[in-house]
Amino acid sequence: MALTADEAHAAEETQEQERMILESIDRFLEREVAPHAMRLEHEDIYPEDIVAAMKELGLFGAIIPEEYGGLGLRPSTYAKIIERISRVWMSVSGIINSHLIMAHIVNKTGTEAQRQKFLPRFATGEVRGGLALTEPDCGTDLQAIRTAARRDGNDYVVNGTKTWISNGIHGSCFALLVKTDPEAEPRHAGMSMFLAEKGDGFRVGRKLEKLGYKGLDSAELVFEDYRVPPENLIGGEEGQGMRSAITGLELGRVNVAARGVGVAQAALDEAVKYSQQRSTFGKPIYRHQAIALKLADMVTRVHAARLLTEQAANALDRGERSDFEAGMAKLFATEAALENATEAMRIHGGYGYSKEFLVERLYRDAPLLCIGEGTNEIQRIIIAKRLIEQNPV
Ligand SMILES: Cc1cc2nc3c(=O)[nH]c(=O)nc-3n(C[C@H](O)[C@H](O)[C@H](O)COP(=O)(O)OP(=O)(O)OC[C@H]3O[C@@H](n4cnc5c(N)ncnc54)[C@H](O)[C@@H]3O)c2cc1C
Repeated sequence: MALTADEAHAAEETQEQERMILESIDRFLEREVAPHAMRLEHEDIYPEDIVAAMKELGLFGAIIPEEYGGLGLRPSTYAKIIERISRVWMSVSGIINSHLIMAHIVNKTGTEAQRQKFLPRFATGEVRGGLALTEPDCGTDLQAIRTAARRDGNDYVVNGTKTWISNGIHGSCFALLVKTDPEAEPRHAGMSMFLAEKGDGFRVGRKLEKLGYKGLDSAELVFEDYRVPPENLIGGEEGQGMRSAITGLELGRVNVAARGVGVAQAALDEAVKYSQQRSTFGKPIYRHQAIALKLADMVTRVHAARLLTEQAANALDRGERSDFEAGMAKLFATEAALENATEAMRIHGGYGYSKEFLVERLYRDAPLLCIGEGTNEIQRIIIAKRLIEQNPV
């Protein structure tokens, strides 16, 4: 169907806005992130100055609607921002990703009162946080969680432990998945989600040490008789927790796919540069066919991953169900990141193993992408299930 003149004009304006936003992100990355990333990452330091600059840019409100103080960007523009950030330092994208999953959950599944109370504070970055689903005994099988919220007078009382929570130390508010009816069948009917702000009974257990994804804090969160008011029950109704989690993970999967594209592209960039600088047997190594073939596969993976990610983000823009597209994008782009990081390291020979070169960080960061926001094993299961649903015989 052809666009009307007004629609075509609006689309052009949106593209122009996107171009300007991406240019300002590029300037921010060049000035504020690139010069400091290697030191902060190796020393595992939370990037306070970068966070301050991101607040000024409005990135903590990137996808929060303008009426609640955010930038109101489309998921597809947001995905392009995440790709660019991850090309420079993936951990920085994690600081806004899980925060915005929490905001997305409130926006899509919260009550109007919750949107008005929380989203403006999330948008400025004054209140930052993330998503608390995983527990020591379960990640994939979320319906097996044991953290429980029991009604007591005017409050709910929460007890349990969450682990691997991104922004757990520097964040102050988390979308917390609990059981409000541990005996319910099916199990998801007894699950609810709360906005849990740090306070009495809610403490950080410990910081978790990681292979990569450093700078960003991953923590265990402990709830001991933590009291939370019913106003913080997302959606205002018990039993909606899995629905909220799934809504958040839809955006999360596009986030992670975009990170995969960024990391895969960074690995390619490094390999293309180095293979022209390094010579063996009298010629630059890119002229050895064994290296040229790797480069061809790497660039093909980047382009394919970007297209799948755009397709998934565009489906989210249109408000369509996108688990099929997001699953394929997440699976392909994150495996592309891992493969490209490994190939970039091989192309760098011994230098790829040196902490003075970027590729060793890419090699440590990439595997996380295959685990977070639903492991790639689970993505394959979701994709296959949807494939059969779409093609019944
Ligand atoms: C750095 C980091 C940051 C994270 N940030 C967060 C966060 O902010 N919030 C949060 O809630 N969680 C977070 N996580 C947790 C992450 O989401 C989980 O680790 C992930 O979902 C996998 O869960 P698990 O570790 O319990 O693995 P398990 O569920 O125990 O899975 C172990 C293995 O079994 C496979 N498997 C499990 N079930 C099936 C099945 N049915 N069929 C086939 N294979 C299966 C898995 O794919 C995996 O290979 C983070 C993790 C890391 C490492």
